Amino acid sequence: MSSYGATCEKKQSVTDIYGSLVFNDKVMRERLPKDIYKAVHKTIMNGTHLELDVANSVAAAMKEWAVELGATHFTHWFQPMTGLTAEKHDSFLSPEPDGTVIMEFSGKELVKGEPDASSFPSGGLRATFEARGYTAWDPSSPAFIKDGTLYIPTAFISYGGEALDKKTPLLRSMEALNVQAVKVLHLLGDTDVSHVTTTVGSEQEYFLIDKSMYMKRKDLLFCGRTLLGAAAPKGQEMEDHYFGVLKPKVSAFMHDLDEELWKLGIPAKTKHNEVAPSQHELAPVFETANVAVDHNQLTMEVMKKVADKHGFACLLHEKPFEGINGSGKHNNWSIGTDTGINLLDPGKKPAENVRFLVFLMAVITAVDDYADVLRLSVATAGNDHRLGANEAPPAIISIFVGDELAAVLDSIEKGTAFEGTGKINMSGAEVLPHITKDTTDRNRTSPFAFTGNKFEFRMPGSAVSVANANIVLNTAVAQALADIYEELKDVPAEELSGAIQKLLKSRLEAHKRVLFNGNGYTDEWVEEAARRGLDNLKSLPDAMPRWITDKSVKLFTTHKVLTKEEIFSRYEILLENYTKAVHIEALTLQEMVRKDFTSGLLAYMKDLTEEAAGKKALLSAEACVMEEGILTKLSADAKEIAGKLEQLAADTKQAEQKTDVLEGAKYYESVVLKDMEELRKFVDDAEELIPDQYLPYPTYGAMLFALR
Ligand code: ADP
Ligand code: MG
Repeated sequence: MSSYGATCEKKQSVTDIYGSLVFNDKVMRERLPKDIYKAVHKTIMNGTHLELDVANSVAAAMKEWAVELGATHFTHWFQPMTGLTAEKHDSFLSPEPDGTVIMEFSGKELVKGEPDASSFPSGGLRATFEARGYTAWDPSSPAFIKDGTLYIPTAFISYGGEALDKKTPLLRSMEALNVQAVKVLHLLGDTDVSHVTTTVGSEQEYFLIDKSMYMKRKDLLFCGRTLLGAAAPKGQEMEDHYFGVLKPKVSAFMHDLDEELWKLGIPAKTKHNEVAPSQHELAPVFETANVAVDHNQLTMEVMKKVADKHGFACLLHEKPFEGINGSGKHNNWSIGTDTGINLLDPGKKPAENVRFLVFLMAVITAVDDYADVLRLSVATAGNDHRLGANEAPPAIISIFVGDELAAVLDSIEKGTAFEGTGKINMSGAEVLPHITKDTTDRNRTSPFAFTGNKFEFRMPGSAVSVANANIVLNTAVAQALADIYEELKDVPAEELSGAIQKLLKSRLEAHKRVLFNGNGYTDEWVEEAARRGLDNLKSLPDAMPRWITDKSVKLFTTHKVLTKEEIFSRYEILLENYTKAVHIEALTLQEMVRKDFTSGLLAYMKDLTEEAAGKKALLSAEACVMEEGILTKLSADAKEIAGKLEQLAADTKQAEQKTDVLEGAKYYESVVLKDMEELRKFVDDAEELIPDQYLPYPTYGAMLFALR
């Protein structure tokens, strides 16, 4: 356990701990011959091919370093379409003829692995190609040591070269954005830029509950969320948890968590209590997108492990508790150049303002044009419970830019000079006001908010990889930039400024419908959005057909982010994952109600009946009005529960028969989930009357308020 409170204990400093288990640039510089280091560095920065002798040299250094730190195994670590990470461990051991062993690790083993791909979701790709899959080293995400094993981040592809994972398309999308952004930058005069990278910082929300309580809830164990449970008398209405004082046990957990993450080179920075009771958040410093995605996957894993050590269960589900805020993962996103410019930071000079506005407009265009696929990038069975409920951003995609920037955009549209705290004049004389975070980050209801020098995409769910969101964002923005380049590339230099102004104006006219600075949680916005023609795709099955439209296929294939086969395979996988998740929930709820809840209900009813009979015999009929009152209510609930349970069972059976993936998912959404809600209503109603000790699982009140 951690040393909470033991402030005088001498501890290793953060700078000693940080990255101590990572084969990072510093370690490489120290341990690799100069020419090898240079070659690897070039590969990391520009994605150039790595020769086998270089790989051999890196592998040897890596192994030596890992063995010194106690590692005995290595693993190619990858992110299949399950949304989780996968690993298969091989030891470095190589037996010698004399009965001894040596520790070996070759360049070939570093660069490529061959896990059996047949048990990972492939969405039909496996039928056309062999079961074999390959893992390929991603040198741009550093290797690290965890639990005595050297972890090598890899991409996972099929025998035919199709992506079977999330990293491959993410890397491709980063490259697509790089290519298009550099072209536009050169056009705007930033000819010294040779590379552009996507940066991501993903804030992670989670719940902590007592582990022994968690173990008693089958719904949490099997599904990650509670499927029944009456609301506690107290919820989050007192607003006393957000940023509140950390409870000692929680603080000890966070302390250990930070340390474990820092060792892995994960820049965990902020930690605080969130809005809901027992809900917390961790935010890291931003990193290159693919490293940030890897690190977020690791963060989730480490959170669970450290929680377990502290006697907690860490809940990452998007909606663990009904009626209580769910958890998301804010995806802070920007693009930066190798010359150190954040392209979404309004600069201090007129030319910088122009560049900022061009990139800003590319993002606005992309988000409006591809709102449906962006919505899909965060669609999961879990997140469906969050989006559109009165707490998370709605399922409608809109952009918040803040009043100041809205005024700037307004002046561009009208062709007037901006008169605000500063002035903008596109011919170059005056400067945009520095748009500070303070003036922009007020709206927490927007799904996609400009926060001063980056966008914050607030729709991703807490449980899933943010790879998908960034794949879509990168690719859509790459397309918007490609169009801008096409429009401007043949314009003579002296006319460029005017042409840009015209372009900004026309883009704004076309896409201003997606801009919305108001409260996204209101019904008025839902109506207004409909009038503007914005989509409101409420569930995954609703949204899924948009993934395979011609427009979507064209986007991903044009930029070589996904092939048509990969797009269709992902369609199948997402629908299958959805269906499986709801199916497991339906079975779990049935089991909990049939066995656990019913035993509690009947036991209490039996005791009440005996109590009433006893009183009646001893005293009078009036003496047992209370028992009879409760019994009457419970009997009414019991009758409904029995009926609803059978309905759910029958409809679940029906759902299993569906052969078409989309039709199946739709059935689960519109019928099975509704049955579950119906059943739950009566179970929760009855639970309010049943004393805690009759139920074999803990109540909402116990789970949410018991931690000290
Ligand atoms: P909040 O009020 O949401 O906590 P912060 O300014 O603390 O806002 O930043 C939230 C997240 O945004 C952090 O993870 C931070 O590292 C990340 N972030 C900041 N700048 C960038 C950037 N240029 N690109 C991507 N993420 C960024
Ligand atoms: Mg945030």
